[in-house]
Amino acid sequence: MLQRMTIKTQPKIQKRTLATIIDYGLYLTFFIWAVTTFGEPNDEGGYSLNGLKGIWVEIVWVIYFPIFESITGQTLGKRILGLRVVTKSGNPISFWQAIKRRICDFLDFGPMGLVAYLTIKNTPDHQRVGDLWAKTIVISGHDFACTNCRDQLILTADEIMKREFVCPTCKTTVKI
Ligand SMILES: [Zn+2]
Repeated sequence: MLQRMTIKTQPKIQKRTLATIIDYGLYLTFFIWAVTTFGEPNDEGGYSLNGLKGIWVEIVWVIYFPIFESITGQTLGKRILGLRVVTKSGNPISFWQAIKRRICDFLDFGPMGLVAYLTIKNTPDHQRVGDLWAKTIVISGHDFACTNCRDQLILTADEIMKREFVCPTCKTTVKI
């Protein structure tokens, strides 16, 4: 018998914050390296990346965030913390969903992450603004319940990626 799993999300504020710090920490490191290596000194005493060089900084952002997230459901930060982005029914997200949620990063994470914090805390599926617009949710292995016996399931990262799991209580095969 095959059952679909019920997803019951938790806020996971700490894990999501850590994943964001890892991801933007890495990106910022790359950004500073690129600007100081390839940039030209400007009048304000800093560096500017002009023309094609400036576009590369944006291309790397698109590859690291929306492209990685739409192909694997994870950035490096999410992989380390065991998180994954999926649609509300648990399916992989599309590239446009990934773009939509990431375009909102500046709003969600801007003022000390306050906007993301408040919306994750106060929405039923614990979504930040980007998730609300893209209709996505962030899951971890603790967010699943068996549809058959309603038992809470704890999945490993591998089982989430495989999208299939045998419930230890009722032995039903459940699909994400
Ligand atoms: Zn069960």
